[in-house]
Amino acid sequence: MYDFIVVGAGSAGGHTAYFLAKNGAKVAVVEQYAIGAGGSGAAGAFISPRIGKGGPIQRWTNEAFRYCVDFYKDSPYFYPTGLLRLPKDGEEFSKVVMDVEYERKSGGFFFPQAGVLKAKPHLESLLQNIDVIYAKAMPTFKDGVVEVAGVKAPHLILATGAWDELLDVEYLRIGKTSGVRFDLRSSLSLPYSIHQKISISANLDGIVSIGATHQRLDTPSRPQPPSMLFEEAKKMVGAFEYEIEQMYCGVRSSVNDHLPIIGELARELPKVKNFKNFDFGQIPKRNVSIVGGLGGRGFVFGPFVGDMLARHLTKNEPIPKELDVDRYVVRYLKKGRV
Ligand SMILES: Cc1cc2nc3c(=O)[nH]c(=O)nc-3n(C[C@H](O)[C@H](O)[C@H](O)COP(=O)(O)OP(=O)(O)OC[C@H]3O[C@@H](n4cnc5c(N)ncnc54)[C@H](O)[C@@H]3O)c2cc1C
Repeated sequence: MYDFIVVGAGSAGGHTAYFLAKNGAKVAVVEQYAIGAGGSGAAGAFISPRIGKGGPIQRWTNEAFRYCVDFYKDSPYFYPTGLLRLPKDGEEFSKVVMDVEYERKSGGFFFPQAGVLKAKPHLESLLQNIDVIYAKAMPTFKDGVVEVAGVKAPHLILATGAWDELLDVEYLRIGKTSGVRFDLRSSLSLPYSIHQKISISANLDGIVSIGATHQRLDTPSRPQPPSMLFEEAKKMVGAFEYEIEQMYCGVRSSVNDHLPIIGELARELPKVKNFKNFDFGQIPKRNVSIVGGLGGRGFVFGPFVGDMLARHLTKNEPIPKELDVDRYVVRYLKKGRV
């Protein structure tokens, strides 16, 4: 018997399990393939802030960025190389609001605290003292207890990324975007990472990573061919010699406001007359939580949302409304559709 079972050993599940255990909970992780087998294993895991005009996505991304660089600072898997963000085609930098440390450089913004994380060994180290069970989770519920892969707990946490078959709620839809990253063996001299249309990492031990293409899987969209990565890389740093070491493909998940979703799922939908004074606390809850929708910044958000959900579940600390999955209950009730 555990306190929590987390399904999924990616950035969302790995960080959540780590913080739950840190708060004294007994945790098991159930993973169908391997630690970091999903979108998390494909990620170049660039740790970078977001630039913009100061809306909620930028505000939360950069709050998570400040949190995660502090969290990663002692990790042997984090390389704080700095990152140069250059303007994309037609992008105007004059109205950008900046809420993280930066320098102006080469017509862009240089973030000295940004860097690259070796995602898979980082996740493996987070889970080294946590029980990980390799099985496809098919939870069953009885008398307030959930059973998954032979273990039981009073609470289940879905951290299943773009795999949404365990998510049986009518008010939420997970968007899926596939992407590709290449690790290139090269002697290219690149001391910091660069983001423009694509991302190129600093040269770490003879490897330069380039990523990521985007293809929405749930709506018809034109795929970006992987060759685009090489064309864009050439435009950004000039022609360079390389051998392809490894290619990674993965799918990342998001919801339509592009913010993470955190918190317990609704057991039933309440009848609401006055949305203005509606309190999320009125929504009856199940013993199932979700943590996901991390989009293209799974390792920026991972520690931040994992800590937030763990503190909510073990210490009853509130989840901010803009990140609480309950915002989708409210939207669904207002609109009558997802
Ligand atoms: C090509 C690419 C490049 C990216 N680059 C970056 C980047 O530079 N920086 C950054 O921060 N983010 C990046 N991302 C985004 C980041 O990878 C994702 O946001 C993040 O990995 C999502 O983590 P997750 O834990 O939600 O999902 P995942 O990593 O997909 O983990 C979900 C896990 O759940 C498991 N699972 C699902 N269903 C079940 C089941 N029924 N039973 C058992 N296990 C189950 C899966 O096997 C998987 O391991 C990139 C993504 C891609 C695809």
